[in-house]
Amino acid sequence: MTTQDSSTGEAAPALAAPPHYDYACQYVASGETTLRCSKCNRPLMPKDAKRTPTGYVCTYYVKARVATFYNAGIEHYVLVAIVALVLGAISGFVLNFVGNIGFFALILVIFAGPAIGALVAEAIRRVLGRVRGMYFWLTAAIALVIGAVFLLLPSIFSVLAGNIFSLIPFLGLGLAVSALVARMRI
Ligand SMILES: [Zn+2]
Repeated sequence: MTTQDSSTGEAAPALAAPPHYDYACQYVASGETTLRCSKCNRPLMPKDAKRTPTGYVCTYYVKARVATFYNAGIEHYVLVAIVALVLGAISGFVLNFVGNIGFFALILVIFAGPAIGALVAEAIRRVLGRVRGMYFWLTAAIALVIGAVFLLLPSIFSVLAGNIFSLIPFLGLGLAVSALVARMRI
């Protein structure tokens, strides 16, 4: 498994037989090391090593994996935003309605908020399928809030008019957003 490693520096690349590396990592060890990247087999400095279940890998391999893991295009982000916006509007309508029933709404919203967040996350997962985006969670969270806020305008005015119970829908929205982010952020 180990290759004879006399001098793999930049000194004489033409003379030495090019070592076989499995992945096109750009990693070059900055000093002497006995550790090797378990993926590309390049000498690896302990400070650059990233621990994975299959061994230590270089930072370039990690970056390349991240790049292929997230495969979403701009159209997918638009789709995420639309789904979250529509469901956000529905959530805003529901929360606004619930907010009008007074103190009992508080208990209702503590359960409904996280459920809404989970529902939106699940809807996005179903619509997007195997498409993954690094900032899907952020896109969804912002769209959810924007979608909900318009429907929550009556509650906003009610809060401004001094009705403290009208803050309850916003608690629900906050719980929904945190549940959504928790589920979407891997
Ligand atoms: Zn590597």
